[in-house]
Amino acid sequence: MGQELAAGPEVVALAERTAAFIREVVVPIEEANGGVVPSDAVYRELQQAAKAAGVFAPHVSKEYGGHGLDMRGRAVVFEEAGYSLFGPLALNIAAPDEGNMHMLELIATEEQKQRYLAPLAAGDIRSCFAMTEPAPGAGSDPDALRTRATRVDGGWRIDGEKWFITGADGAAFAIVMARTAGEPGDRGGATMFLVDAGTPGMTIGRHIPTLDESLYGGHLEVSFDTCVVPDSAVLGEVDQGYRYAQVRLGPARMTHCMRWLGIARRAQDIAVARTAERRLFGSRLADLGMAQQMLADNEIDIAATRGLILQACWELDQGGHAGQAVSIAKVFSAEAIYRVVDRSLQLCGALGVSGDILLGRFLREVRPFRIYDGSSETHRWSIAKRVVGRHVKNQAQS
Ligand SMILES: Cc1cc2nc3c(=O)[nH]c(=O)nc-3n(C[C@H](O)[C@H](O)[C@H](O)COP(=O)(O)OP(=O)(O)OC[C@H]3O[C@@H](n4cnc5c(N)ncnc54)[C@H](O)[C@@H]3O)c2cc1C
Repeated sequence: MGQELAAGPEVVALAERTAAFIREVVVPIEEANGGVVPSDAVYRELQQAAKAAGVFAPHVSKEYGGHGLDMRGRAVVFEEAGYSLFGPLALNIAAPDEGNMHMLELIATEEQKQRYLAPLAAGDIRSCFAMTEPAPGAGSDPDALRTRATRVDGGWRIDGEKWFITGADGAAFAIVMARTAGEPGDRGGATMFLVDAGTPGMTIGRHIPTLDESLYGGHLEVSFDTCVVPDSAVLGEVDQGYRYAQVRLGPARMTHCMRWLGIARRAQDIAVARTAERRLFGSRLADLGMAQQMLADNEIDIAATRGLILQACWELDQGGHAGQAVSIAKVFSAEAIYRVVDRSLQLCGALGVSGDILLGRFLREVRPFRIYDGSSETHRWSIAKRVVGRHVKNQAQS
């Protein structure tokens, strides 16, 4: 089967503009703030600058003011944006908004698109995605979903607890997964709801202190207690929430990989510059064998990550779920990106762990990626199940 993986000239031009914008405008602001966006004002300033540079919202369709990139196009542009921790926020392609926009474009009604997607795509509002629950609720196992939505006159009543909801502080709305059929542990029976911030019964709770700090709006506890929403709040069809979660999750997993690949490249650039100039034992650090091995392994991890992302994106662009390719790319990327940042930090010695450069910040930011969007173990489990399932099917047919 032929695969077209090379980006076209328009995508290449946008990627080049993005790269220049990130290096010239975004990186200086990021470095001045230690890699953590300090305020809404800085956030707005970054987005205005991205609009002026013509690189804003590359993933959204042209109808909503974007560039309409397919997944392969996103792979090229998002990697450039991810070169800075602030880049995805500037371009309006940060999690969870970017994944939510993708899903709203595919599933929302026209009215919902006007109300939620249009202002989100314009950067006027932020959003969050509320799926995970404290134990014993939904985490790696989505079937454990306990938050429940019950039919009431003219709508639905939502009750339950969520946690680790990125960006909930300041989000104008949440996409909430709630059980509308069956019991916790049952397969299926979930529905997605669009819940406006401030809806009575929805409480934005504690900011959970975490290793990472760059995903804007923090990670929060969110609770629902007799939170009543109208029928028009249902996103897609009732009881089809898990199917829609797959629509969001496959591409969202890949876009996370793309953005973090940008940070891995940045870490490697820092390490290369440092080792080329640092002199140890009468030579450049870059000429010592064990340092060369780390630099080479970084290049290999970066190239392999890019290749696996592109393979999965190509499959997604063909309209498939690309489950196996996405799982393979996600596990490899999350682990390889961490290795690259970790080696780069090691090559910089004490400077690497200091706050004088951002490698320590990068390490903290990429570590949780081995847990969210499906942990490495969950994906390996799925990969193995698929491959054995295929074998059994082939045996039965032969
Ligand atoms: C920084 C961050 C941001 C997040 N943002 C959001 C958000 O915006 N919205 C949201 O809904 N959720 C969010 N999450 C939650 C995330 O989706 C969950 O953490 C993830 O699904 C894992 O669930 P859990 O934490 O409950 O871990 P558990 O389900 O308790 O799993 C614990 C560990 O079990 C192991 N494991 C899992 N499956 C298997 C298996 N099959 N075989 C062997 N071992 C296995 C893995 O090592 C896993 O880490 C975020 C998490 C983090 C860390």
